[in-house]
Amino acid sequence: MCGIVGAVAQRDVAEILVEGLKRLEYRGYDSAGVAIVDSASNLTRIRRLGKVQELADTVDSAHVVGGTGIAHTRWATHGEPSEINAHPHVSGDISVVHNGIIENHEQLRDTLTERGYQFVSQTDTEVIAHLVEWELRSAPSLLVAVQSAVKQLEGAYGTVVMDRNDPSRLVVARSGSPIVIGFGVGENFLASDQLALLNVTRRFMYLEEGDVAEVTRRDVTVFNSLGEHVERKITESKLEHDAADKGNYRHYMQKEVFEQPTALINTMEGRITADSVITDAIGVKAAYILAKTEHIQIVACGTSYNAGMIARYWFEAIAGISCDVEIASEFRYRKFVTRPNSLLITLSQSGETADTLAALRLAKEKGYMAAMTICNVAGSSLVRESDFAFMTRAGVEVGVASTKAFTTQLISLLMLVTALGKERGTIDKVREQEIVSAMHALPNQIEQALSFEKEIEALAEDFADKHHTLFLGRGEFYPVAMEASLKLKEISYIHAEAYAAGELKHGPLALIDADMPVVVVAPSNDLLEKLKSNIEEVRARGGLLYVFADEEAGFEADDTMKIITMPHVSDITAPIYYTVPMQLLSYYVALIKGTDVDQPRNLAKSVTVE
Ligand code: GLU
Repeated sequence: MCGIVGAVAQRDVAEILVEGLKRLEYRGYDSAGVAIVDSASNLTRIRRLGKVQELADTVDSAHVVGGTGIAHTRWATHGEPSEINAHPHVSGDISVVHNGIIENHEQLRDTLTERGYQFVSQTDTEVIAHLVEWELRSAPSLLVAVQSAVKQLEGAYGTVVMDRNDPSRLVVARSGSPIVIGFGVGENFLASDQLALLNVTRRFMYLEEGDVAEVTRRDVTVFNSLGEHVERKITESKLEHDAADKGNYRHYMQKEVFEQPTALINTMEGRITADSVITDAIGVKAAYILAKTEHIQIVACGTSYNAGMIARYWFEAIAGISCDVEIASEFRYRKFVTRPNSLLITLSQSGETADTLAALRLAKEKGYMAAMTICNVAGSSLVRESDFAFMTRAGVEVGVASTKAFTTQLISLLMLVTALGKERGTIDKVREQEIVSAMHALPNQIEQALSFEKEIEALAEDFADKHHTLFLGRGEFYPVAMEASLKLKEISYIHAEAYAAGELKHGPLALIDADMPVVVVAPSNDLLEKLKSNIEEVRARGGLLYVFADEEAGFEADDTMKIITMPHVSDITAPIYYTVPMQLLSYYVALIKGTDVDQPRNLAKSVTVE
């Protein structure tokens, strides 16, 4: 979500901090700020509403000097986006940046007001600044003051504290919101994501839940939630310096849609042979766990939830194992019954999705046999806290609307389904070969699907002036329709809904008129004839249809129905394949509407708040 960057160095750090914020800004934010202290304890704080570039321009012309600083891009949760609510927040000599939500901020605000503190913002974050200022009055060091302060905080935070009287150090704390420390030579850095620091270092250390660390130019000292001195592993990042570069594409989303063939190849690489799935590649303990698994529970949010919904059809139809899928924010607050030998699977691009992480922690207490995550970010909280992780290798995904993370999740799930089916004896050698050859064929087929770009661009004209759109599918193409409608909502702000086509007559048919385009995902398969009847129901009521089908489906275009005819692909991988034209459709509708495709309003990438 919002981003944090910090630095303790001898050189001036303003540029490094602002560059770090720029690298994080794709996540969605509404304001940004920096606070920098020089060696004579002079503090400069600059905050701006809007784009990081506005902050960058002001910082540039102000010639800010100082080797210790903190910076933040905010995604408002408490208090409107405004300069006064932008971070860093200051209390006396203390400056603070914070990602997350302090849930007991109201009580703390009352207590601190009684102590004489005056609040100038509406944020929950400001309580941290005053609380640390208060604690520092009696504590021997900033570290101890922060340790005492965070004990009083409820909720989620990644926070960095700076004392203008002691520019030699920053103190950082993590609980529910990621913090990574970057090691330089004679200088150290920290951030909410290593991407922010790739131009200054490649050596990183992730803090764990409850950790508080003191960062100086030469040392990083970490303490766990019990106050014990602990060592955390330092790793070398494999990400490219320009991992988040847009290249010649107009938008990150467009680039990421077109990267899908490569992302899929990378995700399958070393995990399948010419005709089989390598079970060991799923995880060291995988074969043992999969052999014992009797039920799958998938928990995820947003696009990842839709991937889980597609996988449910595969788990049951291909591997013959029961599977439930639930939205993480519901699962975590519901009193549920754990079925025997259930495997929990969390899906998340970032591995930091707050609700999914909470669901994982809850499931550990509730008797799940094991927890697996399918995730795109190595070292993320879900990866570290799960029993085993299967990494999608989509590369950095910058567009808020997820595309390549979704399709690589799907191919990962299909590999897992196949491995599980083999362990259970529900997939024989012939079936396995059939699945694996469909997987091998997919990247090229997606390349072909991308070549429908121009046709889809022309189609998008019909949608741009509409206020509503309906997406229909049956079987595993129902969740494909769900994902298509989510994409359209996210980036074009057109209200879109997905229905299982058989459900139309139970209500939504009442909505059909010439102002409601109806998009149908209709490959030739077992359910095609049923789907054709549903299409006729729409047609009979004057609806305008846009049908994505293959040559074998036998549709004919007329005044009420436009057809995009795609090459036929295997039933097994068709849900992944048909996702691609849907992504292109929403992209081109958004382009015509002129919305901010990569940073749609009100949304953020990597949802680290509840
Ligand atoms: N809750 C804090 C605020 O509204 C931090 C939000 C964020 O993570 O950017 O200012």
